[in-house]
Amino acid sequence: MEDNLIDIVNKSIEYLKKNKINNPRLIVESIITDVLKINKLDIYTNYDRKLNDLEKNEIRKKLKEYNGENLEIKPNTVKEYFEKTKIYLDKKGIPESNMITNIIFSKVLDTDMSLLFTKYSSIVNEEAKEKIKSILKKLVELRLPIQYIFNEQIFYGHTFYVDKNVLIPRLDTETVVEKALELILRKNNPIVLDIGTGSGAIGITIAIENSESKVLATDISENALTVSKKNAQILDVRNIKFLKSNLFENIEYRNFDLIVSNPPYISNGEQEYMSLDTVHEPELALFAENEGLYFYYEIASEAINYLNNEGYLLFEIGFKQGLKVKEIMENYGFKDVNIGKDLTGNDRYVYGIKKGN
Ligand code: SAM
Ligand code: GLN
Repeated sequence: MEDNLIDIVNKSIEYLKKNKINNPRLIVESIITDVLKINKLDIYTNYDRKLNDLEKNEIRKKLKEYNGENLEIKPNTVKEYFEKTKIYLDKKGIPESNMITNIIFSKVLDTDMSLLFTKYSSIVNEEAKEKIKSILKKLVELRLPIQYIFNEQIFYGHTFYVDKNVLIPRLDTETVVEKALELILRKNNPIVLDIGTGSGAIGITIAIENSESKVLATDISENALTVSKKNAQILDVRNIKFLKSNLFENIEYRNFDLIVSNPPYISNGEQEYMSLDTVHEPELALFAENEGLYFYYEIASEAINYLNNEGYLLFEIGFKQGLKVKEIMENYGFKDVNIGKDLTGNDRYVYGIKKGN
């Protein structure tokens, strides 16, 4: 092996390919992040890094494991079982194998994720093995997202219950919530409308983080509302109400300080580019007509009648929709319309203000 990370990555991929292992790049990325303790993106910014012998040996050893050599170790301890599970997930092309394996083991062994290492040398009992097997089956055969298997997703530091009736709240949406909180910061007892609340991620988080606020959270899906109500209860949030409504249909109040929405915005043509997880998510939460823009037209055209003067409209958007949504909002009379980015630098939200006459 050469010493540069780029050479090692390429050689490793070649090695796995030669041995007919599926998903070689994913596996190599997983091994490198593991051995060098860096995240996946950093692999590509560290291409010139020289690796020492210890690191190279460790990578070699792991490559052999993936290739089915070194199989004489029958997994017994948590650590061995953990490694084996991760390898299995990588081979099956499941992304984020390290994170997922951590979640599985901390759940099955009922241990905080950060303390899992303290159990590394204990023996995995039969019951735990069975549990792990059945979880892996759901993950690999049914391709169920881990969040639906354990019925939870952490959003903005709060644990939300999720099931197949709601979209799994995304990390990108936290940026939208942050913006929402900023927009209502200087308002007294702000009243907020969250359209298409799903799990309640946006509305409930705003209600928690701004305890002076009052939130009305709506959805067209009764099943989604069952989930969001459950979350408000679990998280003990009192300053929120839920209402079944097709967009503005059942909304009477017309003096909101902020209307926020993460509507469905994926166009039908985009289906093939979506991650596998979304196959299990409600179609009602994902797809929109008119190149994914349907809900922006519908909501922006009416929102102006439901906001007070100086009230804001804030949308989550798909990363290519910024300019178009800005234009839509401006055409419907919103002022100071701006586009904001998420943590990866993609356009992720658009907001504007209704200015009184
Ligand atoms: N707010 C959640 C989040 O950010 O994780 C869920 C957003 S999901 C992309 C869109 C939500 O809009 C779904 O819960 C869906 O049921 C709801 N929805 C779809 N059409 C709607 C409509 N006409 N009126 C109200 N809600 C609708
Ligand atoms: N961000 C989600 C995804 O990429 C889509 C959510 C939405 O349509 N609002 O799967």
